[in-house]
Amino acid sequence: MSVGDKTVRSLDMPVSPEAVDASSTALERAAPFRMEYASAPESTSIISIAPQYGLFINGVMTDGASARRPVVNPATEEVLCHTTDATSADVEKAVAAAESAFGKWRRLAPSERAKYIFRLARILQERSREFAVLETVNGGKPIRESRDVDIPLSAAHFFYYAGWADKLEWAFPNRRVEPVGVVGQIIPWNFPLMMLAWKIAPALAAGNTVVLKPAETTPLTALLFAEVCQQAGLPDGVVNILTGAGGTGRAIVEHPEIRKIAFTGSTEVGKGIARALAGSDRRLTLELGGKAANIVFADAPLDQAVEGVINGIYFNQGHVCCAGSRLLLQESVAENFLGRLRRRMEMLRVGDPLDKNTDVGAINSKVQLERIEELVEAGKAEGAELFQPVCPLPGKGYWFAPSLFTGVSTSHRIAREEIFGPVLSVLTFRTPADAVAKANNTAYGLSAGVWTDKGSRVLWMAQRLRAGVVWANTYNKFDPASPFGGYRESGYGREGGWHGLLPYVELSD
Ligand code: NAD
Ligand code: MN
Repeated sequence: MSVGDKTVRSLDMPVSPEAVDASSTALERAAPFRMEYASAPESTSIISIAPQYGLFINGVMTDGASARRPVVNPATEEVLCHTTDATSADVEKAVAAAESAFGKWRRLAPSERAKYIFRLARILQERSREFAVLETVNGGKPIRESRDVDIPLSAAHFFYYAGWADKLEWAFPNRRVEPVGVVGQIIPWNFPLMMLAWKIAPALAAGNTVVLKPAETTPLTALLFAEVCQQAGLPDGVVNILTGAGGTGRAIVEHPEIRKIAFTGSTEVGKGIARALAGSDRRLTLELGGKAANIVFADAPLDQAVEGVINGIYFNQGHVCCAGSRLLLQESVAENFLGRLRRRMEMLRVGDPLDKNTDVGAINSKVQLERIEELVEAGKAEGAELFQPVCPLPGKGYWFAPSLFTGVSTSHRIAREEIFGPVLSVLTFRTPADAVAKANNTAYGLSAGVWTDKGSRVLWMAQRLRAGVVWANTYNKFDPASPFGGYRESGYGREGGWHGLLPYVELSD
């Protein structure tokens, strides 16, 4: 459903009677069940990690002799392997390969291009267990999430855009549709394979060729994807993967032959990239952070809302740009709701990401853990009240307990700044207009959640919330057909759906 240029998604599956049970008995019943259900952690024998990795340029993996950057398992602090930081000279080679591939790739019959993209999607599905374990070992996210969300949605994204490849004439009727050229794509560490899919799939469908840089802490699924490109017989140079950190990113941004940059990451780096491209004819889309409001009205199905709020902030340890990190509770129901929420938080299992019953995994890196700790300290210093369930954290690795702040005012740093961790800030409101004002009181505008029994109120709210995605009675629901992107400091451009093709096509009459 669309309201203006916003996407409004609502729960599309019937809710089980247990989930909407108005009493807390559903949760109490679930607790002992979950305890008994302990199982052996997912085996890592399905994955193989080389000691060192080179770069994927022109269809070939270079030897990795100069691999110096350690890749760490954040749950154990074990060094998994070393990767290579691509230099400007490497970027030059990758762009040259992508340019030479572009000449052929763009002229390939669209139905043939589609076949390659479908093949990438199918191989991702076939190797999904391997990808899921690797994503979890490298990034710290619970295996349940990589298995059920990250990898299937990545494959779905390739399937979806493969379908567009031979329908561009219908997507843009009466226009001449051409690809843009070589595109540079820089992605973050929170959803490594999914962000790769969001970037590469539409680019290839429209006939572009790609130079992509994964984040320095999470390069492993992108490197495995390079192998998938070879397995699919994708023509050499159509996809090039360069590992490295900010320096490699800058070299990609500065390369004059790259016609378009797609970036997902921090607002600070995004603004720097916008400055670097200002005045040039090179294109840019930015998907930056967020500080989304998850708004619960008194008439909402409360147990279902508790689940949505938990999922909204603790999914992927809160390393989610659209995380529902500000909970806005209607005053009349606030105390009741907070009681249920605290009880539910006490049931979250924090620990081994490879354990199928883990709800909250490891924080992605030491640097990110320090950022979270700093902001939580600031929250306490500003006078907000911190609640954390009693949960033993493993001795090694990077961990942070699920956290909840009450007594938060709109001026507090924890109400304004993106924490990008498992930390929820709670505010209250009285009227719908009050909720809108508080929700929009942010520099960001990526997403929002609305929990209410009234359909008319969902629409009223969606029209007023300055956020690219509004979820109604659900949260963090993704679909490749649905455009995703922000207002204001959350960036510009949309990924997903028909809208997601626009940045990758050149239209003329
Ligand atoms: P970042 O913006 O520094 O990193 C994102 C990507 O950009 C990485 O691949 C990185 O190597 C690359 N990069 C870094 N500097 C660059 C430069 N000057 N030019 C080109 N590319 C560059 O993000 P971070 O430092 O890992 O995280 C900082 C904060 O950003 C987080 O705490 C979080 O608030 C936010 N963040 C948001 C998202 C999102 O999905 N919107 C993702 C990651 C981080
Ligand atoms: Mn950074």
